Amino acid sequence: MNAELPRMSLLIDGAFVQSSTTTWKDIVNPATQEVLGQVPFATVAEVDQAVAAAKEAFKTWRKTPIGTRARIFLKYQQLIRDHMGELAAILTAEQGKTLPDAEGDVFRGLEVVEHAAAIGNLQLGELANNVATGVDTYSVLQPLGVCAGITPFNFPAMIPLWMFPMAIATGNTFILKPSEQDPMVTMRLVELALEAGIPKGVLNVVHGGEDVVNAICDHPDIKAVSFVGSTKVGTHVYNRASLAGKRVQCMMGAKNHAVVLPDANKEQTLNAMVGAAFGAAGQRCMAASTLVVVGAARAWIPDLVAKAKTLKVGPGNAAGVDVGPLISTAACTRVEGLIESGIAQGATLELDGRKPQVEGHAQGNFIGPTIFSGVRPGMRIYDEEIFGPVLVIVEVDTLEAAIDFVNANPNGNGTAVFTQSGAAARKFQEEIDVGQVGINVPIPVPVPLFSFTGSRASKLGDLGPYGKQVVMFYTQTKTVTARWFDDDTLGHGVNTTISLK
Ligand code: NAD
Repeated sequence: MNAELPRMSLLIDGAFVQSSTTTWKDIVNPATQEVLGQVPFATVAEVDQAVAAAKEAFKTWRKTPIGTRARIFLKYQQLIRDHMGELAAILTAEQGKTLPDAEGDVFRGLEVVEHAAAIGNLQLGELANNVATGVDTYSVLQPLGVCAGITPFNFPAMIPLWMFPMAIATGNTFILKPSEQDPMVTMRLVELALEAGIPKGVLNVVHGGEDVVNAICDHPDIKAVSFVGSTKVGTHVYNRASLAGKRVQCMMGAKNHAVVLPDANKEQTLNAMVGAAFGAAGQRCMAASTLVVVGAARAWIPDLVAKAKTLKVGPGNAAGVDVGPLISTAACTRVEGLIESGIAQGATLELDGRKPQVEGHAQGNFIGPTIFSGVRPGMRIYDEEIFGPVLVIVEVDTLEAAIDFVNANPNGNGTAVFTQSGAAARKFQEEIDVGQVGINVPIPVPVPLFSFTGSRASKLGDLGPYGKQVVMFYTQTKTVTARWFDDDTLGHGVNTTISLK
């Protein structure tokens, strides 16, 4: 272990502390293989300490006035804005995406922080007056207690910010387990959160992998777990944490289809498709990774390929780069293997992005835009989430056939239709069985006034991140039925029925 390298701290009870673990993992710049720092795999005892601190802090935090909670997030959003350049640079160095896209990653999280600052308008109960004579019923949304969040590598700013701001704004305390692949920008955001005034013990961070995640799932003092990541791990987390009695939400893998009708605006559609398939090197859960061309739109494939060829592949911090590296050499090898499987299984390789020449970065995990046509279910490149800059194209004859095709895929994170026809768009919106739909919008990730509503195999649990749904996720509805006796009230005698009298 190189003692010179920055080592990620744990955050327990307001203090940044070094883990006592003997297991450390390198954090690697995916464009250069430079080791940027090290992340500990915390011990189960350290998870217990973090949970104990959060449990203690909950006693006072749950009673903290709305205005006090809201003002912390007002300050926090300003601090994030003030540090945007620094945050994006850290993110690009450890994750790989381009600097403008890294700013986008921070910004989409910042929007949730702004939403958390509006908590006073969000965490509202209901009251019904005179539900029986002299009786009122009202409900309050009370925080659950200690909640936890487990995040993936692909949005190391946005996804942690989906979680702890709303959990804490609603009065809970929190344990965050960032991705072990790129925890540095997450930790900087955590430092800024403390600077904004989050009290000690209210936000805690433990690093690690499977053991720490399992300890979170099992811990009796954690009341709810929010997970974003792969379907395999998310399913495990959902089952294990549910079995331990927790409320759980898991946002998982995807295969998002964009349906292009021949009446769509061609130039705008091709621009949208290229950006949504290859941006962030395809490492977005909402990437448009499958293109369904309907009828005459299949003639646009050569122009799509030509446009994809114009994208510049390179390190995310270089000006003009469109496609950065994949997160790790293992991810790169996996995606190259999937491309080979596509060729072997008979798809037509329209554009081969393997082993691009990136000057001065021979070691980087680069794959350029890759396009297959003639793709069918049963091929691995269709059946699996590639999570790289690979677009697969399917051809169908009608809108009805396109809708049936998309609905037959088990995933339901996002989909889009490109058309100039309101009637076609409305039919698609009504009949498509996918939780987030774009109409001429390739990546329909909702802003936090709404919730993230991926569906079917892309999600476990009913309530999604941010928006109104997450207020329900992080609170328990308590319903109070109250009667206040006036001294002069005449008694009705004993009521042995279930009716309110
Ligand atoms: P991942 O599932 O490998 O990791 C997610 C988290 O789980 C990490 O914190 C990791 O440390 C932990 N983890 C990994 N292996 C584990 C194990 N065996 N047991 C317990 N915990 C484990 O996911 P990733 O590769 O970091 O992220 C990419 C995936 O996330 C893709 O499938 C992508 O579609 C998905 N994703 C989904 C959404 C969404 O909103 N639906 C958003 C972003 C990413």
